Amino acid sequence: MSKLKKLEEYREEIEMCVKCGACRAHCPVFGAERQEGRVARGKVALAHSVLKGDVGLEAKVLEDLSQCLLCGSCGAQCPNKVPTDEIVAAARRRIAEQRGLSSFGKGVAAVLGRPRLMNVLAKTGGALSSLLFKKLPEDSGLRLRFPAPFIEGDRTLPPIAAKPFRERYPEVLPGVAGQPTVAFFTGCGINYMYPAIGEAFLKALRFMGVTVVIPKDQACCGLPAVSAGAGGTVEKLADQNLSALSRHEVDFVVTACASCNAGLGKIYGEMGGPFAELAEKTRDIFVFLAEQGLPEKLAALPRHSSPKKVTYHDPCHLRTRGITREPRAILQALPQVDFVEMADAGTCCGLGGTYSVYHYDTSKKIGAKKAANIAASGAELVATDCPGCIMQLQDTVNHAGLSQKVVHILELLVEALPDENPADRQV
Ligand code: SF4
Ligand code: SF4
Repeated sequence: MSKLKKLEEYREEIEMCVKCGACRAHCPVFGAERQEGRVARGKVALAHSVLKGDVGLEAKVLEDLSQCLLCGSCGAQCPNKVPTDEIVAAARRRIAEQRGLSSFGKGVAAVLGRPRLMNVLAKTGGALSSLLFKKLPEDSGLRLRFPAPFIEGDRTLPPIAAKPFRERYPEVLPGVAGQPTVAFFTGCGINYMYPAIGEAFLKALRFMGVTVVIPKDQACCGLPAVSAGAGGTVEKLADQNLSALSRHEVDFVVTACASCNAGLGKIYGEMGGPFAELAEKTRDIFVFLAEQGLPEKLAALPRHSSPKKVTYHDPCHLRTRGITREPRAILQALPQVDFVEMADAGTCCGLGGTYSVYHYDTSKKIGAKKAANIAASGAELVATDCPGCIMQLQDTVNHAGLSQKVVHILELLVEALPDENPADRQV
């Protein structure tokens, strides 16, 4: 049975905060709102007060603790490596234990904790898509036709897949003898909203001769439940995923979603035991492909005469864990891509799990800075490595009146790959 750390178990880390303020410059929420309560040291101090029982759980305390994207940017820059994101998440769990979940948190826990219900809801949404949503120009997303709880009408949303990705394929897709076997942890974004990313994942791994297992009974990684403070749901989902991913002998568990990668690779890692072993086996798709030598294979392809200008957005859940080089290495090696860096490529897009639902106005302010950097880069496409960032960045770009399309790097990668592949030649 999985176990998340309690707030008490972070006492030592909380007391390591020396209130130096070095984290201020790196906090996207502070950058947008300029309020001390929004920055890491304020939240760590608040978590300390909650731990000592010095403050009650009044509205102001709840509001301040909700003002965190859990992006981890502060911890990555903190001289004492204080894990503010983990401390805030533990404080939210403590609050939920004492006061119960918010109504939105209850909804998150109810849906994520029941994968079958989620499947039914997604299929219903997919079938009713044309009634519920209207199309934006140039296929840059959808907007709701009618008001819906917790979702603002001016937010750009991706369409819901008529058939979830995991239902489109058998559980095992054989590759070439001698090549690795991997489990594809799809996550909810790819399964329900961005199946084209999953298709691209399969094409890329088939090109490399890799055997891919897609466990049918995998569930959400649990990260949205972490953000909502629903600790019991996170633990239940971790148990289910451990069981689903342990049914097959695989060399690696590969993700194409930064949040899922952090869920399996970091949150499960903190749970220890077999969860830590699963975390050890987890790879981001571009780390895996770089380890398999794909950039070298791509570099041998003839370059296009008029490549597309593409920039890259670093998802926080990869950047703060040191994964920045591999996605760029693949992008730079693509023959149809002229890669350009944008300023502050590593600043948060403003999504932050449930954060952008509770605090959409601040989320938009954070996004507006990103939009200015995207425009200044001169890129026609923004590539990233996370369905959540794609959704948020496309919304940001649309709000700014820009024309850029936001894509997953995998979608660009498969444009460059030949249709014939080693797995086809073997059968
Ligand atoms: S969290 Fe780290 S960087 Fe921020 S005030 Fe505390 S010690 Fe300084
Ligand atoms: S985790 Fe991100 S949003 Fe939260 S305090 Fe740290 S930098 Fe700010």
